[in-house]
Amino acid sequence: MEDEKVSLRRAFRLHFRAAKELHKIDPKLFPVTILYAIVSGLLPYVTVFFSARILQELAVLRRPDVLWKWVIAGVLCTGAFALLKAFLNQRNETLLDDLYGRKELLFVRKMFSLDYADMDKQETHDLRDQIRQNENWSGWGLMRTPEAYEQSLKGIVGILSGIALTVSLFTSPVPETAGALTVLNHPVFIAVLAALILFITWLAGKCNLKAISYWSSAAEEATFGNRLFSFFGFIGMQIGRNADIRIYNQHKLVSAYWDKNMSFGANGPIAKKAKGPMGIYSGLGTGITVLITGFVYVFTCLKAWGGAFDVGSVTQYVGAATALCGSIFELTALTGILKTNTPYLEKTFQFLDIPNAMYQGSLTTEKRSDRQYEVEFKNVSFKYPGSEVWALKNVSMKFQVGKRLAIVGENGSGKTTFIKLLCRLYDPQAGQILLNGIDIRKYNYRDYMGIFSVVFQDFQLLSQPLGANVAGSNTYDRERVTKALIDAGFGDRLTTLPEGLDTQLYKDFTENGVEVSGGEAQKIAIARALYKDAPFIILDEPTAALDPMAEAEIYSKFNDISGDKTAIYISHRLSSCKFCDEIAVFHNGQVIQQGTHDALVSDETGKYYELWHAQAQYYTESA
Ligand code: ADP
Repeated sequence: MEDEKVSLRRAFRLHFRAAKELHKIDPKLFPVTILYAIVSGLLPYVTVFFSARILQELAVLRRPDVLWKWVIAGVLCTGAFALLKAFLNQRNETLLDDLYGRKELLFVRKMFSLDYADMDKQETHDLRDQIRQNENWSGWGLMRTPEAYEQSLKGIVGILSGIALTVSLFTSPVPETAGALTVLNHPVFIAVLAALILFITWLAGKCNLKAISYWSSAAEEATFGNRLFSFFGFIGMQIGRNADIRIYNQHKLVSAYWDKNMSFGANGPIAKKAKGPMGIYSGLGTGITVLITGFVYVFTCLKAWGGAFDVGSVTQYVGAATALCGSIFELTALTGILKTNTPYLEKTFQFLDIPNAMYQGSLTTEKRSDRQYEVEFKNVSFKYPGSEVWALKNVSMKFQVGKRLAIVGENGSGKTTFIKLLCRLYDPQAGQILLNGIDIRKYNYRDYMGIFSVVFQDFQLLSQPLGANVAGSNTYDRERVTKALIDAGFGDRLTTLPEGLDTQLYKDFTENGVEVSGGEAQKIAIARALYKDAPFIILDEPTAALDPMAEAEIYSKFNDISGDKTAIYISHRLSSCKFCDEIAVFHNGQVIQQGTHDALVSDETGKYYELWHAQAQYYTESA
């Protein structure tokens, strides 16, 4: 990531937006950060101010009655500031820790609101992954923002207080009696000195900037190193992979990657930068600032020697001027951090700003009590994003509610794609899908989604209580959920569960969780589809793990329980679907035959006939 081309204005703009986004997630953080920055920016000057007053009384004025008042005021004020700073620091750190996890909400919400096609794209996941890696490797991205606000405010408060306490250093004149030292009063001398101090501070800041810029040049290396680390470092903890790793000795393969991942090693590329130019520039930056303290000491002491002020003021000026230069230095360094962080924020916003390109209509799907729906595919063609191959080609088909439609065909023939288009997870590139004669794009998207219950091949249950899984909500009608589970064939198993519907599925979060078998999970997924009670119910080979006979049994049972709904069954096993009113045969993304089982099986030249006879050996009993 190049930071050279980033303007400060752009850096400010993006960090301002980042603060606004984070403020939405946690409205308490920024007020606390701002207060903390002000208090901690002021504290050094409070100490310097009171020390100077006390020293002045001790060394010059020697008034005991005033001295003790300064001592008490100093102790109280410094103590109060220090306590307030500690308290605010603790609050600030706690809120920051909390924010680290909570800012994920921004990404999660975005992920859920993306168009499905974008969510399904590898580039979207890569982008999200890069943002995460950048954060992991050195906190680049959103989380730099609170720190940047804190430091800049601290710096500004520091500069203002520093100026307030050092103005009189320049304005108090050395008396005429001091001879040559009166040159210190000359405005040109003061201007040259001030310019020199500012120049050195700026130079130190520049060195620091240069050191910081090496972080960004190492970003690619570090991101890749982190990717390897996150994959291979935790591979042994992935339950599903363990058997394969052991049987095929994959740990050797894994360790090879691990050994080669030298990104963060002592001799790795990042360490080389740290030991080389990065360390040198950083050291130079800090070293140069010491020069300033030297100049300030000499100037202040000479003025005091000439009689411009007393020893108490020397303490104040030296302390305040050193702190002032420190603040300028930090503020300069901060501009470097902001610029370096800007490309990382750009990536973050690139993700958060992915537009929703899908057209969202406003028509309702009329939750018709007669459930009269008619669906038509008209010359529909579709390619997956990034793919050159047509997954569906010129598909035209019509079907009515209340009918049982079977979609059959070999693997990869386009059956699932047909369902994904019907449910509007994707829009076709050509053709139209109509619901009751109206293009489905014209319906309200959420409303349209509401008319489908689909059990996908790769359905997923959550590590949540059983009832919540079926209902998709924590509050639900227990009777209806129980009925859906019984209808889906899970009734017997339900009676054995210790906590019934409240039983936690899987052991991710509790020891008492129940591990369900693949077949049982499938029944729960079917119950979930039944509970949704949508007019369309679709089973996309949810039975792939079962043998042909068992699959046919589930399908015919499902036929009984799906009642007046329109049911669509997808299978590459023809026997499962022969009871359907209509069968569509898919081949290479096209519908090549359509009709009843009897009509199709009697057409000896057709694909259905060929497939039926090829598969018959597996299910002659039911054929
Ligand atoms: P079926 O359900 O009949 O097994 P699919 O509808 O899943 O077939 O797949 C149809 C074609 O689309 C296949 O060639 C498959 O490789 C391709 N395909 C499926 N999903 C994707 C995807 N997400 N990206 C790219 N191509 C895909």
